[in-house]
Amino acid sequence: MGKKQRDLFEVELPPWELDDWDAAQIAKVVFVDPPHGPFDYLVPAALAEQLHPGMRVRVPLGRSNRLTEGYCVEVGQTVDLPMRQRPDPKRLKSIERVLDAQQLVTPRLLEMAKWISHYYLCPLAIVLETVVPTGVRRQSGTREVKFFVLAPEFVERWSNEKLSQKQRRILTLLACSDQPLTQSQICDQVLCTAAPLTNLRKRGLVVFEKQRVRTVDHPTPPELAEGDFQLSHEQATALAAIEQQLESAQHATFLMHGITGSGKTEVYIRAIQKVIGFGRQAIVLVPEISLTPQARQRFRARFAHVAVLHSHLSDAERSWHWQEIQNGRVQVVIGARSAVFAPVPNLGMIVIDEEHDASFKQDKAPRYHGRDVALWRARRENCPLILGSATPSLESWYQAVQGNYHQLNLTQRVYDRPLPEVKILDLRTEFASRKSRGAISRQLHVAMRQSLDRGDQVILLLNRRGFATSIQCPACGKAVYCPDCAIPLTHHRSGNKAVCHYCDHQIPAPQQCPLCGYAGIRFVGFGTQKLEQEVRVRFPGAECARMDTDTMSRPGSHERVLNRFRDGDVDILLGTQMIAKGLDFPNVTLVGVINADTALHLPDFRAAERTFALVTQVAGRSGRGPKGGSVLVQTFSPEHPSISAAAEHDYPTFAQAELLHRREYDYPPLARMVRVVVRGSNEESTKAVIEQLADRVRTAAVAQEVEVQLLGPAAAPIEKLRGKFRFHFLLQSKFEVSLQDLIRSATDAWGAAEDVQWIVDVDPLDML
Ligand code: ADP
Ligand code: ZN
Repeated sequence: MGKKQRDLFEVELPPWELDDWDAAQIAKVVFVDPPHGPFDYLVPAALAEQLHPGMRVRVPLGRSNRLTEGYCVEVGQTVDLPMRQRPDPKRLKSIERVLDAQQLVTPRLLEMAKWISHYYLCPLAIVLETVVPTGVRRQSGTREVKFFVLAPEFVERWSNEKLSQKQRRILTLLACSDQPLTQSQICDQVLCTAAPLTNLRKRGLVVFEKQRVRTVDHPTPPELAEGDFQLSHEQATALAAIEQQLESAQHATFLMHGITGSGKTEVYIRAIQKVIGFGRQAIVLVPEISLTPQARQRFRARFAHVAVLHSHLSDAERSWHWQEIQNGRVQVVIGARSAVFAPVPNLGMIVIDEEHDASFKQDKAPRYHGRDVALWRARRENCPLILGSATPSLESWYQAVQGNYHQLNLTQRVYDRPLPEVKILDLRTEFASRKSRGAISRQLHVAMRQSLDRGDQVILLLNRRGFATSIQCPACGKAVYCPDCAIPLTHHRSGNKAVCHYCDHQIPAPQQCPLCGYAGIRFVGFGTQKLEQEVRVRFPGAECARMDTDTMSRPGSHERVLNRFRDGDVDILLGTQMIAKGLDFPNVTLVGVINADTALHLPDFRAAERTFALVTQVAGRSGRGPKGGSVLVQTFSPEHPSISAAAEHDYPTFAQAELLHRREYDYPPLARMVRVVVRGSNEESTKAVIEQLADRVRTAAVAQEVEVQLLGPAAAPIEKLRGKFRFHFLLQSKFEVSLQDLIRSATDAWGAAEDVQWIVDVDPLDML
């Protein structure tokens, strides 16, 4: 009937219906659970004023009209649409209730969420759940309070009522008050119990309205200090370039390539001061792991209103910060990845420190990269984006080489302190000569001894936690694997367990081979626990501390260890990549890398880049004070360019060689890439799904005449994870094509088998 009627209207519209239909407000609503929408709903006149895009609503959904919570993402009048596209309001369901009193996201953030949803192929409602922190949605830190006022009909009614003295006093109080009062305020001032008030309410003389009020107190800001040193020439040049850009109020991206200890942070701070001078706000993204109290303090000491969004905040604290940020009371927001969503009203600059860090990419939906979202936002809000690193991602480096980003170079450490000398130690000869046993070579031992004798401090990096890295049977040669993941179990000394580092499956460490029964099973390889034990045996007089996810699980433990190290109570700090970043301890004169190869041979095209970055970053912890320092890198692959270039502190040479390699294989940043992963509990059906998906993509590519390469499908490098079989394929193209559009058209109206999940990872970082 609807269609017929509409055809009719295009000829002639009955006026009585025209009003109704044209003025009808339609809202688009999306949902976290499938079906995700968007679906059109009619906005009842009573809700029209209240409802804005970005608010949550309750609407009937599906055939059963189950009331479901969703996000309203658009509101429009049907008259704005061409006649043919106008939905038939008679067939639309109505919004039942508006759940938020305020917009949770600004129109700008909503626009950003829509872009993320489109680019990363993620349902919009799921993006919105990520953009708006849980605490904000739940209004944590607020309480609903009843506020009393005189009823609207009060004047007509009250003269007819018989009232007690207390009730009269209450009414007088409310009549004289210029704001609504809570029950306890009323009772305190009138000196009465709640009874007279309740009675007044029952008689309809007073009414209450509910409002949310804040219950958390805000922290007091610390004393401010000024950076009292002169900028180096290079720092000043970099700052001047950024300031000039700020004055033009146009977007530009700067890649600040500054070696470790060159004073990048100081440049950010002074540029942000300028931003604040313009009455704008800045967002600073750092890897979560670098958000140490030391780093927070550095910003807190320089700005009056800083919000630090770290992972240990309670929902209430997070929600309080969000309000403060939204109201423009915060000058600088510092946080990990998700701080890119901070609702600052007048964004003046975004800084991403350690921009190469993989933690800026989220590993669950939406699989966004904070750097790319920041770029979108900085463009949209016409402000500069500053990317800083000693080891830039090849993605950013390539953009700078192409002239799309301005490159700023800090090639000197502050006070012209030299970079530490890096020595490479070939573990193959070390092992052949059988001079050393254990993880620490003779040379490293000697160097450590010398540093400790001088009263200096030492950092040791071993990027593997646990005791032994694998448990192997010398008789049958088999290693002990996790039954649910295709990963060898790691031996942990504490509790004598064998642990899966992916799913945390734990069994008592086996005494004999579970496969052949041989009793001489061996624990091979080194983890940080075993290294710690070796260090204690070799250097009994030295105080040693270990930092890895096993020792750092309690909040605050990270800070305690670093404080002890700073105070000189710890001589040797050893740990995983946790210790590689950002630590600034002038008394460290020796850094030892136990095995630089741990990540080098992973089946991941970024393995060399990661190894280069890790070795360079940890080397940068040495020699930051006047005493200078050195670095010893133990490796089985001394001639590998990522290790030899790191030893020379030569990023450009490494990047050039690596870009050539990437071009040869059409890898990012010289091509676009999307990874599709399928997982399921049945190997056969999971495999069938990935093959079906790959076929559909190939067919779509042929139909649309786009040039893409499809690698796979194949079993993923980690074939089994938490009991699920995993298959993947990579889709790549060096041409200007939208791989996302291709996937969208290939999967349109397609559904995988019930127990098989599939994910699309755009610009993937994780290839395992
Ligand atoms: P990066 O971030 O490049 O590793 P930082 O900004 O942390 O370097 O600077 C290293 C140290 O040098 C910090 O303690 C900082 O306060 C100090 N510093 C920075 N710039 C200067 C300067 N111009 N003169 C003296 N000290 C400086
Ligand atoms: Zn496992």
